[in-house]
Amino acid sequence: MPKVVSLPVKGVISSYRYQPDWFGVHYHVNMYVGCGFGCLACASQGQYSHHVGSSCDTVGVKENAYALLEKAVSGKRRKGVVMLGHESDPYPHIEASYQLTREAIRILLDKQFDVVVFTKSPLVTRDIDLLSAARNGLRPMVVMQIATLSEATAAKIEPGASAPQARLEALRLLANSGIPVGVYLGPLLPFINDDEKDVGDLIHSVPQLGCTFVAIDYKIMLSQQQWELFKMLSSAHFPGMYKKYQEHYAQDYCLALPKAAQLQQSVQKCCDTLGLRYRMSEIESIRGRL
Ligand code: SF4
Repeated sequence: MPKVVSLPVKGVISSYRYQPDWFGVHYHVNMYVGCGFGCLACASQGQYSHHVGSSCDTVGVKENAYALLEKAVSGKRRKGVVMLGHESDPYPHIEASYQLTREAIRILLDKQFDVVVFTKSPLVTRDIDLLSAARNGLRPMVVMQIATLSEATAAKIEPGASAPQARLEALRLLANSGIPVGVYLGPLLPFINDDEKDVGDLIHSVPQLGCTFVAIDYKIMLSQQQWELFKMLSSAHFPGMYKKYQEHYAQDYCLALPKAAQLQQSVQKCCDTLGLRYRMSEIESIRGRL
């Protein structure tokens, strides 16, 4: 089990200033730093790494998180859409008892902020009661991250996260409760889980669960710290992969998939056939803009 540390912070909500038009998000909230799922290229690296270490084996719990969030949203004149799960998964295993994310959802909906939950954990189904009870034009959405259907590959690239099948089952439960759901298919790691047929199989598996969209990135970003983490974590299951990445990408920050254009074409064709939305503007419109 990951170690848990308490982190002193000044705030838990920030304006969203990363990828434009990302699910229509205006703000992001993180109640935790890191999650302990141990992903090969963890996106939370760099944040407070002096507190939580560099191997994803520690979860940082933000001190006074409820009070900080309540105060921050009460003072905001501009309502908007808040993402839970940018940089750190909002449902680390300890969330089952800490319930910081559950409380954040309750506060946000109560203060008329809409919510997009971005997670790899079926624990989100615990909060179906809150998500499905939203009223007054709010329409919380859940985006489940699934990088592969292969249990074996998932166990290598995100060893602490739940099995892909459990995430698919969670999607079914959420959709059956009337919550808009879809899949973020990724991260797609070059030469590891970017096979066109595997990606197509995953897309084909989601419409019958009630998913209405698939979001996908044809590149990954690796900061210097993430390169170091990848070097350390990939050696056990993917010997030689770090060297291959270096040869292919040098030490670049933005790593485009080797066959990105071809994969994009095939994904779009597949989604069109299945009636799944994949353009961000179409995905956002499921919930409506605030
Ligand atoms: S889900 Fe993976 S990438 Fe995201 S915070 Fe957890 S370990 Fe890092």
